[in-house]
Amino acid sequence: MIKDNLETVKNNIRKACEAAGRDESGVCLIAVSKTKPVEMIEEAYAEGIRDFGENKVQELTDKYERLPSDIRWHLIGHLQTNKVKYVVGKAYMIHSVDSLKLAEAISKEAIKKDVIVKVLIEVNVGQEESKFGVSVSDTERLVRDIAALPGIKIMGLMTVAPYVAVPEENSAVFHKLRQLSIDIGRKNIDNVLMDILSMGMSNDYETAIREGATHVRIGTSVFGERDYSV
Ligand SMILES: *Cc1c(COP(=O)(O)O)cnc(C)c1O
Repeated sequence: MIKDNLETVKNNIRKACEAAGRDESGVCLIAVSKTKPVEMIEEAYAEGIRDFGENKVQELTDKYERLPSDIRWHLIGHLQTNKVKYVVGKAYMIHSVDSLKLAEAISKEAIKKDVIVKVLIEVNVGQEESKFGVSVSDTERLVRDIAALPGIKIMGLMTVAPYVAVPEENSAVFHKLRQLSIDIGRKNIDNVLMDILSMGMSNDYETAIREGATHVRIGTSVFGERDYSV
């Protein structure tokens, strides 16, 4: 089942790239495995998937211990400052940095462990009150402040788009994030890359690819619906 799902998703990614005139090697599929057991991750791993997304620190570190070491674990959920120490050195990239305070905690831990932590800045493009992320207008300031910290490398931007009935409705959100990354990229800020655009989920990844996503985070379409009642 996961095998078939992956085939479908990869096909859709390929078609979306073709339609956008993009090379499919420019889009990384992150299989979002939150709430799912290690057995399901092993199934996806057997199909060649190496990038997995988790939104909770505890779950990420548990799975990190139990699964092959060549997996790249992406932390895509909100990160509390007091949990930073558990995830630095284990997460391949943290997608959800949205404050200087959090970045300072990551920097401190990175120095302690002598690692460089790759991060994305989470932008609340849709300006939803319920969502984490820095506003579009505050993003450049935050990027500049974080870029000055040791042990941290800004790789790009991330957004969680609103849930919409028709995926195309999120075109404007994705377009805006891409434009913001281009604008900031042009400033040539030291220690800042704007190579990664993490946007698009099961509902809207094809639209996101059309608008330039380099990393799509797909859970439901790979592993099926999540059950939060257990
Ligand atoms: C859960 C989650 C996803 C995956 O959502 P699906 O709709 O299941 O594909 C992507 N990004 C973030 C930040 C998430 O928390």
